[in-house]
Amino acid sequence: MDTNENLPRKILFASSEAYPLIKTGGLGDVSGSLPVALKSLHRDVRLVLPAYREILNHKGKSVTIAQFTLPLGHVKIKERLLPGTRLKVWLVDCPSCFDRSGSPYLGENGLPWPDNAERYALFCQAVSHLALDKAGLEWQPDLVHCNDWQTGLVPAQLSLSESRPATLFTIHNLAYQGLFPETLFSTLNLPWSFWSPHALEYYGQLSFLKGGIVFADRINTVSPTYAEEIQTPQFGCGLDGLLRHRKDKLSGILNGIDKNWNPAQDPLLTKNYSLREPGGKKDNKKALLRELHLPVKMNIPLMAFVGRLVEQKGIDILLTALPEIVDLPAQVVFLGSGEKRYEQALRQFAKRHPEQIAVQIGFDEALAHRIEAGADIFLMPSRFEPCGLNQMYSQRYGTPPVVHRVGGLADTVTDTTPATLRDGTATGVVFDGAESTVLIEAVKRATLLYGQQKQYWQPLQRQGMRQDFSWRRSAKNYLELYRQTLLERAG
Ligand code: ADP
Repeated sequence: MDTNENLPRKILFASSEAYPLIKTGGLGDVSGSLPVALKSLHRDVRLVLPAYREILNHKGKSVTIAQFTLPLGHVKIKERLLPGTRLKVWLVDCPSCFDRSGSPYLGENGLPWPDNAERYALFCQAVSHLALDKAGLEWQPDLVHCNDWQTGLVPAQLSLSESRPATLFTIHNLAYQGLFPETLFSTLNLPWSFWSPHALEYYGQLSFLKGGIVFADRINTVSPTYAEEIQTPQFGCGLDGLLRHRKDKLSGILNGIDKNWNPAQDPLLTKNYSLREPGGKKDNKKALLRELHLPVKMNIPLMAFVGRLVEQKGIDILLTALPEIVDLPAQVVFLGSGEKRYEQALRQFAKRHPEQIAVQIGFDEALAHRIEAGADIFLMPSRFEPCGLNQMYSQRYGTPPVVHRVGGLADTVTDTTPATLRDGTATGVVFDGAESTVLIEAVKRATLLYGQQKQYWQPLQRQGMRQDFSWRRSAKNYLELYRQTLLERAG
């Protein structure tokens, strides 16, 4: 520990995904960026991940630095660097658990892998083993930073050890809880004391997430508003009581956005542009419309949605609003994948309105960049949003977002009102109520502002582009939270 500052020197950052090695969503972005930002603040950080096949096939050398046998299996620890950085990554290699093709969490049938409980319990055992410096690596962290249910058993297991490091558990999305049937409990080699509503039991099921919430020294979420919201029945996913019980240890820190989301240097764009030289944004719009086979109409707004096609993201609300949005008139581009019913509905709309709607089903990082740059207005009607990244990217790219006032959206977008226009803080349009009628009104409001380019829209774009969404800022907030966690544990 840095005794002068009471800051942890060594931090073990445990996650089930990290960009660019493997990513399915926002957690991957955070785990690929925050540890790197912490390292640049002079912390000694190790990122620990499962050795999925996709990671082992990723270019870059890895060496085996340890191996040991756990109750759930034999593992090797392979060390490599996170691509493009000096950050050391430890891979928990257990072929029967992680050496398979496809998504980390879901099989080809779109359902969770049937052995997810065993897979992530083994991962948690390996992380705990490393955290207690039992792998012969002579590296004991001062703090273990765990993320989401896949790491939830780590704080629980470490709580059994006197000489353990401090633990922080970050909830990136409370809706994903790692719930499994009771019968699995006895197969995971957990102490029977954990089978209790005060520990891992959740109404007769085994909850990995509760391991983190109940046992970690501190808990946080990825925005201050979401930290408040999850203490209410509306957003608490059945855990609001427990979260209220731990509210003194619960806080929120906004995510940052990665440096490669920068329109001034983004190599994926047709033309780079910036706050000082914003002209190139128009070229990106033209190129995007051509790429999507939509007619180039520069005088009507191009709106965009990028994200998972699931209820959380409000895609159903947007689908209901779409006929009126098209009539404004506007063009709309969708990039996403998820539930088949939404994919089909979107494809049908695109067929009916080939000049106005373009739909790309799938995950396409490069296209996501070109959409952020080429669109005029970004749509994010999420029902709940722990932090959300796209509304931050879109502000950075001069594409003001229309967002539902929840979670991280409420914390990162300032609604346009006479007052916020006057004081120069407006960055988008914020609406209350997850309903299509309200969304339509908000989109109309954005379209009116868009129509007054000089007076309203450009100031809005500029203010968004000025925001500091850097990881460095978030990392400093995390350091402060780590310090507090260590102090409380010592005290
Ligand atoms: P969540 O983690 O709930 O999916 P976030 O907004 O926090 O939502 O992060 C989602 C991340 O994944 C962003 O980087 C977003 O651009 C990206 N993303 C989501 N869907 C797609 C897609 N179909 N193609 C490319 N990128 C996507």
